[in-house]
Amino acid sequence: MVTSTEPAGRRPLAWFLWWQGLLIVVMVALAAAGHDLAATVVAAATGLSAAGAVVVGVRWFRPARPAAWLLLAGAQVGFVAGIVIFMIDDRLLPGQSFPGPADATYLVGQYPLIIAALVLFVRARSPGWQRAALIDAAVLATSAALAAWVYLLRPATAEFGTGATGGLIIVVTYPVMDLIVLAVALRFTLGGGERVPARSLLLGSFAVSLATDTLYLLERIAGTFTPESPTSAGYIVAGVLLGAAALHPSMTGLAERVDAPPLEPTPARLGLLAAGALIAPVILVVEHLRGTLRDVLVIAAACAVLFLLVFVRMSGLVAAHRRHAITDPLTGLYTRRFFGPTLAVEVTRSGRSGVPLGLLLLDVDHFKRINDGFGHPAGDAVLRVVAARLTGRCRSGDIVARYGGEEFAVLVPGAGPDRIAEIAEGLRRAMTEPMPIGDGQEVAVTVSIGTATVPADAGSPEDVVRLADMALYAAKEGGRNRVMAVPAHAVRAGNGAGSTSMSAMLSV
Ligand code: GH3
Ligand code: MG
Ligand code: MG
Repeated sequence: MVTSTEPAGRRPLAWFLWWQGLLIVVMVALAAAGHDLAATVVAAATGLSAAGAVVVGVRWFRPARPAAWLLLAGAQVGFVAGIVIFMIDDRLLPGQSFPGPADATYLVGQYPLIIAALVLFVRARSPGWQRAALIDAAVLATSAALAAWVYLLRPATAEFGTGATGGLIIVVTYPVMDLIVLAVALRFTLGGGERVPARSLLLGSFAVSLATDTLYLLERIAGTFTPESPTSAGYIVAGVLLGAAALHPSMTGLAERVDAPPLEPTPARLGLLAAGALIAPVILVVEHLRGTLRDVLVIAAACAVLFLLVFVRMSGLVAAHRRHAITDPLTGLYTRRFFGPTLAVEVTRSGRSGVPLGLLLLDVDHFKRINDGFGHPAGDAVLRVVAARLTGRCRSGDIVARYGGEEFAVLVPGAGPDRIAEIAEGLRRAMTEPMPIGDGQEVAVTVSIGTATVPADAGSPEDVVRLADMALYAAKEGGRNRVMAVPAHAVRAGNGAGSTSMSAMLSV
């Protein structure tokens, strides 16, 4: 109800609903009294009101991209034009007006505009591809297409195929257009974003419209359709929902960028995908049991497409999980989980080719003080800056990893003792530049670095890490903010029988 406390933004919506309610009551009363023509005129008025509501909504709320909304208003006008043409046609040739010029009007003046509007919404909300949402939409659309083929398209072809080709094309184009609308609407709804009322109303409008089209065509195929069929009321409901969506204050958010939904499907989404993928075998069994199985090849093709879509979706999930497992979320560097096996491979490669391999371990000096003095977020900021400076100064082929809390490892294929010392010194210096920690603040940070190389210092992954760690420890002991190579006695010991006691001694 419109009251003085109603937020101003909702008032046009309330007026619109009152007005549509009034029109619908008048239409039903006229139809009940046998005034078919008058009732149809009022039905056309509801469609025009919905178009007007969208235009008013665009002017009232000024959404960032009005074009999508205006296309939807245009589609309502196309719908009304179809009603008017059907009415005239049905007067001239009673009972013979399907398929006819009204259908051509719907197909040209309504569907392409709806599809274009939906594509504009999807592009505005997520300019990227959003592969997961695309595949999910494709799974559901494929199942719907199969059901449409078995229960609508083929029967329609049988029913109307004997008439003029133009008529058949029109009949078949309805479900095809509906399927395209469905596919884009699914991509829209599965692509994430808040479930604001305008979104639900708009999707509701499409859902009602698609359901009405389906019922309408089923009635046509069964030969039970009459112009007075209550099915057509679905189009009026769809128009009311569209107008309500455009007049709801949340309409401005529909063309705004949205965060992609998490890659991990929710249980609800998984259920939806499973149900979608199972429709094909279910149709196969149902048709078989009814003794009407005629589309084995089509169903088999749909099963194959669904399998491939699900396969690609799952491969994407596995790849994403692997990426997550080997990427440190704070710095974006590789994790130790990735670094370990890579080091083993590189050591083997170096042993085989004789090309040296350099390793440096870098530890931030007195990092605890940064956390204690400036807070944990400042510590995180420092870690990110260290990571950025490391990757900035390394070449492709070098492997940079976060090895522990504030400890980093860099693997440089081709670097012998001199080269790795040079690189380490460059990095040490780079880290002495003040580091921004947010709010315009900066901190001075130093790092200590230990280096070791294959084959000069070590011959196995374990040894090279242990020796670089010893060197790092020596750098800390030596006063921090310095680069140290493996002490010569450690190398001798590390390559000999005394390695364990030496490492234990040095790492105390
Ligand atoms: P040293 O010069 O001997 O290396 O001293 P330090 O303070 O850098 O070393 P210490 O090992 O005593 O402290 C490391 C600290 O790093 C302790 C831990 O709370 C902190 N830390 C570990 N991971 C993170 C992280 O992801 N973010 C932040 N902010 N701090 C972390
Ligand atoms: Mg430290
Ligand atoms: Mg440390």
